[in-house]
Amino acid sequence: MEKTIKQEFEKRFGGEGTMYASAGRINLIGEHTDYNGGFVFPGAIDKVIMADIRPNGTDKVRVFSVDINENVEFGLEEKDAPAQQWARYIFGVCREIIKRGGNVKGFDAVFAGNVPLGAGLSSSAALESCFAFALNDLFNGNSIDKFELAKIGQSTEHNYCGVNCGIMDQFASVFGKKGHLMRLDCRSMEYEYFPFNITGYKLVLVDSQVKHALVDSPYNKRRQSCERVAAKLGIDTLRDATKEALDAIKGEISAEDYFRAKFVIEEKQRVLDVCDALQRGDCETVGRKMYETHEGLSKDYEVSCEELDYLNDIARRCGVTGSRIMGGGFGGCTINLVKNDIYDQFISTVTHEFNGRYGHEPKIYPVIISDGAHKC
Ligand code: ADP
Ligand code: MG
Repeated sequence: MEKTIKQEFEKRFGGEGTMYASAGRINLIGEHTDYNGGFVFPGAIDKVIMADIRPNGTDKVRVFSVDINENVEFGLEEKDAPAQQWARYIFGVCREIIKRGGNVKGFDAVFAGNVPLGAGLSSSAALESCFAFALNDLFNGNSIDKFELAKIGQSTEHNYCGVNCGIMDQFASVFGKKGHLMRLDCRSMEYEYFPFNITGYKLVLVDSQVKHALVDSPYNKRRQSCERVAAKLGIDTLRDATKEALDAIKGEISAEDYFRAKFVIEEKQRVLDVCDALQRGDCETVGRKMYETHEGLSKDYEVSCEELDYLNDIARRCGVTGSRIMGGGFGGCTINLVKNDIYDQFISTVTHEFNGRYGHEPKIYPVIISDGAHKC
């Protein structure tokens, strides 16, 4: 990929720029916890966006996307927003830096990536953080701190791409460190690195390649349930709720709200338990918690679907250590912690059986926890 990017750069602009990269991410555990002030536990992966970039001394940006095979040119004022979706991520990053008082001038860039698009690995965050990191280096003497770089990516999604996302994806993509996961406290925004030593195991995503579009927005409904229960308990978010407090008001809330809140309270604790287990090198406990999360997402939070439950069943039957839905639900991937000695068997079984039932094979993405945004 690096070679292709360099060749394209030479061909289109002459010479070479500076190479930057950033990564997609996984989240080991901590689902639907971000908007409840809880914890998430992501890490950057070995699937990246790379860009060769060079200031061009004008007020125009010229970017070529290798994967889309398209060239786009835009100015740096609000009215210059490009029509192409992929270019809006880059334009958005430029604008968000400028809005914060930072400096961006014209540049030439060629980029490519291998983060699968729309599979839940956050290719968009990889793209944003690659350019945010690069423009901070090239035009701002690295004066913008890393958290701000993540927020620049998040604001890009909100203001230029119509995606009302939290901070986790951009955070993971900017802060990612090889061999480490990061526990982010979504209330205080404090974070901590945890070594992710899983010798003898692999992490693999199984992408169902289905996405169920639901009529009413289940995401908003889940949020509202959580907010109702928090209000009833007299607290800001479910972060401060306990199972005992929830049980005490069980008769005053709907059964649905009860189970939604129960999941969130349990999930918060599971993230902490997984961190402890990792520090002891106890992958079996990590895996068990992943299954518990799946169960909770499926039965209590009700954001699973037939295909994801089927993937989870197959994993269980194959003796996979841990498996769960990753992401918001209703489709997308499961994340699986698999012992090396059953890995090949699991992959062939899940591929075969899923195909047998649904008529298409799932996509398989083995991942290694790697560095986030950096200069190459
Ligand atoms: P994801 O879950 O992967 O973040 P999104 O829909 O949020 O899915 O973002 C995918 C979008 O990001 C693509 O439609 C495209 O506009 C942009 N993108 C991601 N990777 C690339 C790439 N390698 N080349 C061009 N655009 C990309
Ligand atoms: Mg995205």
